[in-house]
Amino acid sequence: MIVDPRRVIVHKSIKSQDGMVVYRMSRDQRVQDNWALLFAQQLADQMETSLLVVFTLMPHYPNANQRHFDFLIKGLQQIEKALIEKNIPFVLLADDQPMKLFEQYIKKHGVTTVVSDFDPLRHKQQWIESTNQIDNIAHYEVDAHNIVPCHFVSQKVEFGAYTLRQKINRLLPEFLTEFPKLHAQETKHTIGIFPINWDEIKTLLSSSENISPINWLQPGEEAAHIMLHQFIETQLPFFNIHRNHPEMNGQSNLSPYLHFGHISAHRVALETLKQPISDSRDAFLEELIIRKELADNFCFYNSKYDKVEGFPAWVKKDMELHRQDVRTYLYKLDELEAGITHDDLWNAAQHELVTRGKMHGYMRMYWAKKILEWTSSVEEALQWTIYLNDKYSLDGRDPNGYVGIAWSIGGVHDRAWFPRPIFGKVRYMSYSGCKSKFDIKRYIQNNTLE
Ligand SMILES: Cc1cc2nc3c(=O)[nH]c(=O)nc-3n(C[C@H](O)[C@H](O)[C@H](O)COP(=O)(O)OP(=O)(O)OC[C@H]3O[C@@H](n4cnc5c(N)ncnc54)[C@H](O)[C@@H]3O)c2cc1C
Repeated sequence: MIVDPRRVIVHKSIKSQDGMVVYRMSRDQRVQDNWALLFAQQLADQMETSLLVVFTLMPHYPNANQRHFDFLIKGLQQIEKALIEKNIPFVLLADDQPMKLFEQYIKKHGVTTVVSDFDPLRHKQQWIESTNQIDNIAHYEVDAHNIVPCHFVSQKVEFGAYTLRQKINRLLPEFLTEFPKLHAQETKHTIGIFPINWDEIKTLLSSSENISPINWLQPGEEAAHIMLHQFIETQLPFFNIHRNHPEMNGQSNLSPYLHFGHISAHRVALETLKQPISDSRDAFLEELIIRKELADNFCFYNSKYDKVEGFPAWVKKDMELHRQDVRTYLYKLDELEAGITHDDLWNAAQHELVTRGKMHGYMRMYWAKKILEWTSSVEEALQWTIYLNDKYSLDGRDPNGYVGIAWSIGGVHDRAWFPRPIFGKVRYMSYSGCKSKFDIKRYIQNNTLE
């Protein structure tokens, strides 16, 4: 067995010896180190049939704009090439009703087996449901994103990192194993394969909102691996200290790659574990494994992950007590978006988000908490924070984002703190606190409007 069956959710398992196997790639956009692709190849080998990879592209994907599409398309172009080297065809289906087109495609071309990759977000789970509704196919969902599969490690919303950590750590030796190699497909499959007209695809996407693409990091698997090795060589030994210094470049910058699936967290963990044991190595693995997989757990088991209703009961009760609290500053959405508040540190963070497409992790907490402090209600704060994060962050529209925001504004996975106005018992962060922890002047200089 190449792929651990505990990684796989069997939705429908008709026995079929003919027809093709399709891997419907979505969250895990890579050819190397991809358990869903490996599982699809394993099935195709067993059935002695062909494997192909299909990507369903939604030109009006929720909250995606040209910044995201630029990164996505360049990554997909590299995937097409890498798959051709393995003799595995790559099909791109573009439509705003992707699952309808996907169903037509598999019916027309005699596909009998579909493998999907796992994504806990609501609309992606609806795609899984739509695939389940297609008659006469087998359908498998493979968690290729988490090291320990999300559905397997826990069957409920975890209280926090402390409850999930022990479950993950117990299973890690069984799951954190080296990947087998994807082998080249022997027969050249031609049915239902048509060349991808990338120019046409780009034209189709050009109507999306014009947020400028990012050029300080390159998309794709190769660039992701270069970034990983650079980080390990230069930054990992200092991660424990530098990660809390937004004025320095001490984080890995892997989140856009992890979000688009250009690199697997599993590979990142394997490479990191080759380094000497240190507090920095432990701190990085805590973020990469425990915090990241906790976010998937929350979104998978709490369908209200981006709503106030999804916050813990103690926070919802507490928030009611503070609805009428006086807000010294109240900003409109366009003022926040333009980064023109009274707070130069916050404005710098917003500027970093808008121009770089990635805000430093420490600043994300401060940034979100201040939006709660400066808006008229917790609902408005949550909605606007998600809007800004998803619009400008290259790694936005991700479970980590919804949970990071829910942690900052709604106390999710956190404990109750000493009560104060507006925040109630949700943890507060202040300008002076930041000033005492890092060189805020330098951060502001690095991220000031030209
Ligand atoms: C308000 C707010 C919004 C956020 N929005 C996003 C988002 O849209 N997308 C996103 O990927 N992350 C988000 N995060 C989590 C975290 O800030 C980023 O993952 C991290 O800053 C990404 O940079 P990096 O890859 O250089 O991180 P590193 O510090 O190098 O960490 C490596 C990896 O560990 C994981 N990780 C690190 N911190 C966290 C965390 N707190 N929770 C979950 N996983 C974590 C990420 O996968 C990250 O890429 C948000 C956090 C907050 C508080």
